[in-house]
Amino acid sequence: MTRPYLSKPTRPWLTRSRADHEEARERILRDAARLLRGGLCAVCREREESESRWLGYFITESHTDEGVRARLVAAAGFCPPHTRHLLADASLPWLMPQVHDAALTGGRRLLDQERCRPAPCPACVTGRAAEQRALATLLRALDQPSILQAVLEAAVCLPHTGALAAQADMAHAVQMTTAARAHLDGPAPDYEVEWLAGSDPDAPHRPAWHTGLDALLPTETAHQRHSVLDRWDADAAMACCPLCLAQHRATHRFLTWATTATGRGQPAREETGLCPPHLHDLAALEGPNTTSVVQDNRDTWNRRLTRYQQLITAHRPDRRAANAYLLAIPRCNACDTHVTAGHRQTALLDAALLDPTRARTFEHAHGICLHHALTGPDTLAPHAYDILTARLALLRWEVDETLRKQDWHTRYEPRGNETTVTVRAPTLLDGRVYAGLPARDQGQPVARVQEQAPDEQGFGSVCRRAMEQRH
Ligand SMILES: [Zn+2]
Ligand SMILES: [Zn+2]
Ligand SMILES: [Zn+2]
Ligand SMILES: [Zn+2]
Repeated sequence: MTRPYLSKPTRPWLTRSRADHEEARERILRDAARLLRGGLCAVCREREESESRWLGYFITESHTDEGVRARLVAAAGFCPPHTRHLLADASLPWLMPQVHDAALTGGRRLLDQERCRPAPCPACVTGRAAEQRALATLLRALDQPSILQAVLEAAVCLPHTGALAAQADMAHAVQMTTAARAHLDGPAPDYEVEWLAGSDPDAPHRPAWHTGLDALLPTETAHQRHSVLDRWDADAAMACCPLCLAQHRATHRFLTWATTATGRGQPAREETGLCPPHLHDLAALEGPNTTSVVQDNRDTWNRRLTRYQQLITAHRPDRRAANAYLLAIPRCNACDTHVTAGHRQTALLDAALLDPTRARTFEHAHGICLHHALTGPDTLAPHAYDILTARLALLRWEVDETLRKQDWHTRYEPRGNETTVTVRAPTLLDGRVYAGLPARDQGQPVARVQEQAPDEQGFGSVCRRAMEQRH
């Protein structure tokens, strides 16, 4: 006996469910194929495009959105690469004062709260979310032979291959790591650094700053040979954060040495491990050792993947421990140098400020940046904080004045040196933006300028004069 009244309400639901499932599956395969079509690396590109779209929308629309501004305030501004992105945009004269305003508001608030660290950069958060979505799409499409084949043929960079392998089932993880090891054993492709380190859209913009650091290396050596305090005095007199300066200069010195040292002083294998951004920076230096240092990093990846395979195919595999091993951030000697240089320069700052004469001189200098005050050690000299507080107060006035003069009704007022705060502010807010160096172009007021800038007054010109005396 048939019971149509039972089958009727259930069958359409089942059919719809299957149809929905198939439609979702087709969409995933379509998305995965689209991601892989664009070449190396599907996941990096998705992250970059998402960040770029977010920043584009920020420039045209969302900078006025209260929620977006709240996130920017909580982060005390954008990260250095995204700040550089905005500084290079045509919106610089009118938008950057608003970005600096948010960074100052958030930074000041965090300084007043103990042990509070800035939230992550909102553009980076958006990029990371897109990156995770792209990884999830590829993972769900791995059972499609064409998708798996593309992944095995290095359509995804090595760090993202590792991320995929850690989340994939055992068979796919073994296939992916085996293919990656085969690529590592083979000849180096043209896109080697892109594959080893992932793409880095900020990398082509950093060498220009590194050229500035190049010029400082012999000067530092000369001062250092004369006396430690000679070097300190020279650093403190520059129009930039002395802690950022020391960190970036030391890292650049390390990378330059790693690419050029020859003979017995050549870097040993255990000294050449680099994180993705520093691998990009090293590749841009193009020294005689660049190929061998990159090869050392290939070998390190090969060893990691081999060990990972051993861990996941062991008799009683602990997949979680194996994944933790694979995804652990590898040691970077350039980052270690950066950290050590920061500690040593901070200790020197603390010691120098105990000397009343040097403490008075430092009152007229640039001082430390907000980033270091927010993320540096608790032992930082209180005097350095006091000087930063004074600098930030003046910066706040300049930012407010620049924003006030953006109003059409103030067009009869002369545009003064305060408008150059758009490019000067990063040295005080986050010295990493200019690789620890002074701002390049502090010269002329920006936007709607008919008059000559007023005579050199105020903090910006004090810093500029200090620089001119030094160079
Ligand atoms: Zn990637
Ligand atoms: Zn960012
Ligand atoms: Zn700094
Ligand atoms: Zn590094």
